[in-house]
Amino acid sequence: MKKLLFILLLVSASAFAQDATVTKYADLITPADLKENLSIIASDALEGRYTGSRGQKMAAAYIANHFESVGLTLPANGSYYMPVELSSTQVTDAFIKAGTTKYAAVNELVYMGQSATNGEISLEAIFVGKGSDADLAYLNVKDKAAIIYVDQLSFDAFRSIRKLSTTLHDKGAQMILAVAGGKPEDFTPFATMMKGFTRGSLSLNKPNASPMGKGMFLLSQEVASKILNTPFAKLEKAVKDPAAKKPLAKIKPSRMVYSVSVESKIIKSENMVGFLEGTDKKDEVIVLSAHFDHIGIQHEGEDKINNGADDDGSGTVTILQLAKAFAQAKKDGHGPRRSILFMTVTGEEEGLLGSQYYVEHPIYPLTSTVANLNIDMVGRRDPEHAGKPDYVYVIGSDKLSSELHEINERNNKTYTQLSFDYTYNDENHPSNLYKRSDHWNFAKNNVPIIFYFDGIHEDYHKPSDEVSKIDFDLLAKRGKIVFYTAWELANRDNRITVDKK
Ligand SMILES: [Zn+2]
Repeated sequence: MKKLLFILLLVSASAFAQDATVTKYADLITPADLKENLSIIASDALEGRYTGSRGQKMAAAYIANHFESVGLTLPANGSYYMPVELSSTQVTDAFIKAGTTKYAAVNELVYMGQSATNGEISLEAIFVGKGSDADLAYLNVKDKAAIIYVDQLSFDAFRSIRKLSTTLHDKGAQMILAVAGGKPEDFTPFATMMKGFTRGSLSLNKPNASPMGKGMFLLSQEVASKILNTPFAKLEKAVKDPAAKKPLAKIKPSRMVYSVSVESKIIKSENMVGFLEGTDKKDEVIVLSAHFDHIGIQHEGEDKINNGADDDGSGTVTILQLAKAFAQAKKDGHGPRRSILFMTVTGEEEGLLGSQYYVEHPIYPLTSTVANLNIDMVGRRDPEHAGKPDYVYVIGSDKLSSELHEINERNNKTYTQLSFDYTYNDENHPSNLYKRSDHWNFAKNNVPIIFYFDGIHEDYHKPSDEVSKIDFDLLAKRGKIVFYTAWELANRDNRITVDKK
């Protein structure tokens, strides 16, 4: 018994042997330094770091200064700033006129799209009901505004409208409108919500190249009825009469005018990049990333600033401290064999835009990019882990490279002993986190990734996501597992292989 135990101890001792050199530099990632960085990155002065805003520019300057002061060099693009130009599109006015009456209020209609008309457009409006093949066989929608009927206001109905609208556009319809059955009083709340979703958006596309095409009007029952000069009950009857032949032909087309005004401008933003050149394998690059944009200022409530201390101030400052630790190791003669690109990206909250821009314009070829370790929200504890051991959600590590997964697991067992939670690693998990942060743009390009994440908590995307709620000891511990895994990726003899697709 004793002997066996001794052997077990021996085995485990060798399996968990720590390398004192690596530990020395990992320990440079401290709760105090993370707190110092985050107190600036997530302060009210930075106004929630909205993409392209003054606050985000302040964060960018702070990050550039930090990269320089710890000894990172300029990457091959020649600057710590990698410009990312984004288009901002905002609908400023959208209305429909039927006869002499103009409709524009949210209880009358909502325009969903981003396509300017440059003045008023007059079209014949035609009622197409549910747009069945049988109906569309006798209705001519070419050069007309097609009004679709759906049973009720819901996201599902909305999705089916979008599919039908593509068909109608293909048949020559110039504008799509939709009206829903159900209770008339449901319209305003739904329209208000839809308007909120389409308020303004940023994209990498040029203005007016919106994937939404010409967009679509959602109409109240009353406005649809006014446009078509037909009581709404009669419209519904035409849709729902199964016995009738060509029922929709009975609804006469009618003239309407519509107009959409859009304001477009270019937002100049940037990814922040700092470089640590490797030694004998310097052409191979590890990318460590976090997003430094957040959602800015909101218009309601006493505290209006979304500080984004956890999302993703926590990841941003972890990148800063990883940079410091690796740079110090290099100064002491322990520089990585492979190169490391430290990157804080912009536009994540607007649709992973900064990382998309990077993979479309990589500073170092993606074929030479060994892995991306992405850190997005690592400073908090979610309700599922209240009172439980220190943990982190690990997502995506096994999707492309078995070795990457093993390296991360082994380093955790050897050094950090966090409880790894793989709940969100399931690609069928409804939260779909594998595709919800910047690593996804790398994974799409076959670059193995790990996404480190702390879970969803009650302050997510709220002004209460503040520095005071961050657990800095836990943040440092999570930063260290990223460090240890990155260290091995950068220093091992063989580049990890992609053995899965
Ligand atoms: Zn985030």
